[in-house]
Amino acid sequence: MAQNFDLIVIGEGISGLTCASHATRAGLKVATIESTLFGGLVLNVNELDGYPGAESGTNLASELMQANADAGVTSLQEEVAAIKAKGGTFEVATKLGAYGARQVVIASGARLKKLGVPGETEFEGKGVSSCADCDAPMYQNEEVIVVGGGDSALQEALVLAKYCSKVHIAHRGDKLRAQKHLVDHAGADPKISYLWKTTVEAILGGKMVEKVRVKRDGKSEDMACAGVFAYVGLEPNAAFAPNDIARDERGHLKTSATFETSMAGIYAIGAVRAGYSGLLRDAAVEAQRVGEAIGKRLG
Ligand code: NAP
Repeated sequence: MAQNFDLIVIGEGISGLTCASHATRAGLKVATIESTLFGGLVLNVNELDGYPGAESGTNLASELMQANADAGVTSLQEEVAAIKAKGGTFEVATKLGAYGARQVVIASGARLKKLGVPGETEFEGKGVSSCADCDAPMYQNEEVIVVGGGDSALQEALVLAKYCSKVHIAHRGDKLRAQKHLVDHAGADPKISYLWKTTVEAILGGKMVEKVRVKRDGKSEDMACAGVFAYVGLEPNAAFAPNDIARDERGHLKTSATFETSMAGIYAIGAVRAGYSGLLRDAAVEAQRVGEAIGKRLG
């Protein structure tokens, strides 16, 4: 086995980095493992809602990453393939090797769900985007469509409205599930309007997106737009987690009140776990609780 740690945290999003920080403060030898860029989904968010003090998602993640490096956390850029129980400890296997851990925290987060309609993949980067903060300036004075009715759809619509001439939010239902302050804020923005009970059937264009085919009241129609931003929910990144760990119907890992999964010694925090509120501050709070508790137990 390549290296042994007290704790391996899988995922370098805000929850994983926070958990690793608290366990390290308790004197544990800790590694974080990340297959892509550190930071997770908040990297695409400039204004962090309900998280005072942070300048942006990128800033917050960079500060945590740097603090962990200074505190001696080992950061491994590898994709976790499996976690195996080995006589009271664990082996975390990646494509490059295997690492030993006394306990494991899964903080691998979630990814944006795709719409799954024709044109979505074809026009990726050519009008189809999932990052309003990155791409909104390219849609100056253009009309765009945001799909979804949750916090992400409204938060990103508000970013787009700073640049676009019109932001249409296409929602399959007639009731938003976003937080009230986002609903109020969007309602007060004259550039934002809703297409209720509307689904997107296809994204169409030439070199770039030119229109979307939507279905309303059983009828299909084409709407001109330059951009399509889909925020139709999240899927947990949990494929590598042992099959023995109980999951909910959408694949999130079930946890106890102490965030332990159904496999003793393996914990889950943040967006990968069933019951997570979706609020960044809650992810940080549960990460701290788990990091401190493991620190006390193993320290
Ligand atoms: P979400 O809350 O799951 O909402 C997804 C929305 O997309 C729902 O309105 C849903 O419609 C709709 N939808 C789902 N599948 C669809 C499909 N195939 N076609 C069309 N519409 C579809 O997802 P989210 O907004 O990404 O938020 C994820 C989590 O992050 C939540 O817990 C949220 O609170 C959190 N979050 C928080 C903030 C913040 O604090 N500012 C910002 C962003 C996200 P129905 O309503 O009909 O099901």
